[in-house]
Amino acid sequence: MTANCAVIVAKDEGEARTLAKEAISKGAEALEFRLDSFPVIPADLSFLTCGVPSVATLRSPLDEERKDIFLRALASGATYIDIESDSVLRNRFPKEQVICSYHDFEKTPAEDEILAIFNDLRSSGIPKAAFMVRGPADLLAVWSAASVLREKGAPFILIGMGAAGEVTRIRAFDLGSMLNYCALRPELASAPGQITLEEAERLGTDPQVTAVTGYPLTHTFSPEIHNAAFKAAKILGRYVKIPSAPEELHLIPEVIRKYRIIGMNVTIPHKESVIPFLKRIDPLAASAGAVNTIRNSPAGLEGYNTDMLGIAASLASVDADPKGAEALIIGAGGAAKAAAAYLKAAGARLSITNRTHSRAETLAEMFGVRAVKLEDLAPAYQLILNATPAGMSGFEHCSPVPHTIFTKDTVVMDMIYDPEVTPLLAAAKSAGVRACINGKTMLIEQAAASFTLWTGISPDRAVMRKAFEARAA
Ligand code: NAP
Repeated sequence: MTANCAVIVAKDEGEARTLAKEAISKGAEALEFRLDSFPVIPADLSFLTCGVPSVATLRSPLDEERKDIFLRALASGATYIDIESDSVLRNRFPKEQVICSYHDFEKTPAEDEILAIFNDLRSSGIPKAAFMVRGPADLLAVWSAASVLREKGAPFILIGMGAAGEVTRIRAFDLGSMLNYCALRPELASAPGQITLEEAERLGTDPQVTAVTGYPLTHTFSPEIHNAAFKAAKILGRYVKIPSAPEELHLIPEVIRKYRIIGMNVTIPHKESVIPFLKRIDPLAASAGAVNTIRNSPAGLEGYNTDMLGIAASLASVDADPKGAEALIIGAGGAAKAAAAYLKAAGARLSITNRTHSRAETLAEMFGVRAVKLEDLAPAYQLILNATPAGMSGFEHCSPVPHTIFTKDTVVMDMIYDPEVTPLLAAAKSAGVRACINGKTMLIEQAAASFTLWTGISPDRAVMRKAFEARAA
């Protein structure tokens, strides 16, 4: 049975008592007191007797000094003291009062190595190991190791750290970890990826989990808008980030199954390469040759494309009718494919341009439209859609096309939403084009459609927009 354990980070004894009371009133079933957060260790450690099991943790190189403090902690009512596996104090306390801990802030080793680490830790107390999770392989190693440890029946604590490890905390009950460490407040988080006690309590033991994968997945706003939608819809759900390097993409289906993820968004650069790993592709996604949404159905993993709905809604928001319009798509990746499938079906006269011209040619051939070299672009379009990351935060701050192609009749849509105004949109605006749209509406609409596919509920878009604004601020 997993207990939500609030981490108490206090400056003095009085604050420790206040925070402990707050944590217990919010539902904490155990408390970890970070004695190392006190500038001076208080003489009175009686706050460690707090009505729920307590852990006293003190990371310090001064082992002899620590030994006395640990003895006082146990005498004052601490249920456990946390001692690192490489400390000389490791075997100097009764095993049943020790959590023997191991941290790797760089990586997660393979399952065998994790199990060897636990074997070693168990000789000194309840074994606890926390590993930095970098992607699907690490998540699967944590999962398999936890399955073996669960079978043995003895208590253990296993944590995946970092944003990619968040799902191990959300699924701590499935993993069988004895404690799920939580931050009392967001600003008091003591480890990367730690969720708040309030969120852990809200989610309970069996939340609905959704996710996004992509690589490197640094600039996505999707967790904020989906998590706001979950709360507004009163669904016990959580949307997490699971970055996947291309060579680990094939492991994503297993991660979805093991961690019981009901749905996943797929973003740059995996929208096309994910298709072979899915059981069924929805006809709209098949027409685009790109998937941005996976649904975990009883029959297997299904691929959908909600980007197309997002593009349609964005253009409709400025009354831009693609029917009969000369349209240019910049880019030849997954989002460009969705745009091509939508614009072709909507009756636009389509051209495609791309940094790598051969890819524009392949895409143009797929849809029976024109490929145009960047240097041959002329001011001939009523619709221009950027489907490249050029100008996005974290990418090259540049425009993907020459600024001579805008006319007063052009509607320019940039799929990028961060920054709000990209170099392309800034240039289009100063050229006096008919309308400029960034990727915000597309993001909200594609997210809302994915949310509905996963939960059967139409989310509150106003709440999603508010969460977007808060993240962008
Ligand atoms: P993708 O499959 O990786 O394709 C990327 C495309 O951009 C390729 O055509 C690539 O050209 C081109 N490209 C990459 N870096 C470039 C640069 N510095 N200059 C010019 N061209 C460059 O990615 P995707 O999934 O299609 O996504 C593309 C963009 O759309 C991303 O910025 C993504 O955030 C955005 N998007 C937004 C939403 C939304 O909801 N607002 C939804 C989907 C996508 P090469 O062929 O030469 O490599």
